[in-house]
This record gives sequence, C-alpha cells and structure tokens, in this order.
Amino acid sequence: MRLLAAAAAVLLAVPARAAAPLPSAAAFARYSVLTPAGPDEPPPAALKDAKRLLYAVHRVERGEYSASKIAKEYGTTLSALQSTNHDELLLMYPGMRLTIPNRDGELYEVRRASETLDRIVARFRSGAAARRELKELIARANRLPGIALLAPYELKRGDRLLIPGVRMSFDTYHFPFRSQNWPRISSGFGYRFHPILHRRIFHDGFDIPKPYGTPVYPARSGRVVSAGWHEGYGELVEIRHFNGESTLYGHLSKIYVHVGQIVERGRTLLGRVGSTGISTGPHLHFEVRDRYGRPVSPRGVIGRTSARNARRDPRRKWGKGW
Ligand SMILES: [Zn+2]
Repeated sequence: MRLLAAAAAVLLAVPARAAAPLPSAAAFARYSVLTPAGPDEPPPAALKDAKRLLYAVHRVERGEYSASKIAKEYGTTLSALQSTNHDELLLMYPGMRLTIPNRDGELYEVRRASETLDRIVARFRSGAAARRELKELIARANRLPGIALLAPYELKRGDRLLIPGVRMSFDTYHFPFRSQNWPRISSGFGYRFHPILHRRIFHDGFDIPKPYGTPVYPARSGRVVSAGWHEGYGELVEIRHFNGESTLYGHLSKIYVHVGQIVERGRTLLGRVGSTGISTGPHLHFEVRDRYGRPVSPRGVIGRTSARNARRDPRRKWGKGW
C-alpha cells in the first residue's frame, strides 16, 4: 500500500534569499511531504508562514554560523535541526546542507522500501501506550489518512515523516578528554612521512599531544572489546559503540578498564596518556572506525552520531597505521 508520495526530488541547494516576493502556498507542493513539486529555492519566511508541513534543504552560505538563527527563520527549533540532521553540534561551514522542516520534531527519512509506520514508531518509543500515542501524533502532524492508524501502513524509500516531540539522543562522539576544546593535533588522518619508520605510511587517526598521565575518557559510550598491548599501538583500548562503530585509544601509560566492561562517554576513566608502542613522545593516538572496521577521519564524527559520512581512504580496510 503506497499512500504517501515521495519528496525525494527536493534534495537541491536552497540558499537563503531575503526580500524576495513570497511564492503562493500552492508553489510549495514540492516541499510538502505529500507532493513532490515546487520551486527550488523557497525563502525561509515562506516556510515559516506556511500552515502545512513543509521542508527545505538549506545550503549554508559563507557568514552563516548560527544554527538556531536558521532554525528560527524557517519556523522550527534547534533540536529539530539537530535530530533531523543527526548532528549534535552543527558546526557549520559554507556548502553544508541542512534539511529543515518548518515544524518542531525530527523529519525522518524512510531508508528502506516498504517500511511500516509501526516499525518507525517502534524506533522512537517502547511500550504499547507510548507507541499508540506517538502514532496518533505522527498521523496528525503529517495528515496521514485515518487508515494509517487502523491497518499496516507502508511507506516508501525516500518518504519523509515528521516525528513530533522526539529529541536527539545525543549519543554523539566527543573528544576523549575532560576538555572539549579542539585539541592540538600533531599528526592528522591521512598519508604522512612516519617519524620513526621513515617511510610514507597512512595514519589512521589523530595524534593528540598531551602531558604524560593526562586522563583519557571514552569519546562515546560503549563496550570495551580490547584492552592491552597491541603492536605499534602499545597499550591500547578499543571501544565498540552501539551502532557497531568503534574508537581506539593508543600509546597509553595506564589502562583502567577490562574487556566486556560498559563505559560511559566522558565519565569512565579509560586510562592515561603515555608513549608506549611506536611513539616519539607522550600523545594519544585516537582512531575511529566505521562498522566495517574501516578507519575514518575523527574530524568527521565529533558531535555526530555516526561515522557514515566521515572521510576515509577508499582503499583501506583495516587500520594498522598508528
Ligand atoms: Zn597515531
């Protein structure tokens, strides 16, 4: 049963335009979650003033740095922007694309063919009563037909639904230290001339110099899958996170956790900075791997819930570059 039309065609840049005459509501059919047609560049005020649920894909321009200001312009909230874009910090840069609904809530994109409404609701709520309540809220917010509440209701890949009242879990990556300021990085992610091995070699993470003994905390909550000596990494801790991605902490001088232990982001003391393994001085080797075990750039995950969109070397499968 296919009752909701796709709105996938709207994935176009939508730069902010000031002082342009506002198109009529009919012209916005494209940005409705119900009908895929309409203009490419709707001004934010038109979405804000619209009575119906609409969304746009906003391309961040030079000089735009406040996500909450953008949210306000489109008639939504910062938390709606955060959860819709799976990005807690929303560190903005020119060219970045933000999906913005004109209501509060997460605009959920259906990623699998024939996903049912019940299945989507189950992702956000547990318990029969809470699920029924959310289902009704979704039906109302998206103007779904009454049948959606009575019979199994299927959606298509690319369909979008506003999920009112949900908030991002904030299960995002942080820096593995007390301070969340951007640390100095002595060696970044990518090819480099190795100071000890004296050859060009891929570096799978960030080298963050810190005084010997600096406390190291999990960048994200998860379960310890490895704790101990590991070749060039020296004393190493690896944490598997709940979506299958993992983080690694190398060259430690001390390890305080054991395999199987559940550790909490920013709270469980993992160990201390050292210079064990192949290392020229006290620093933390911090590495992030996607759910296939491929190292990705830590830069692309800080503040996010997933390593899916972070940069990685397409040729590399397994990390061995400390
Ligand atoms: Zn390193």
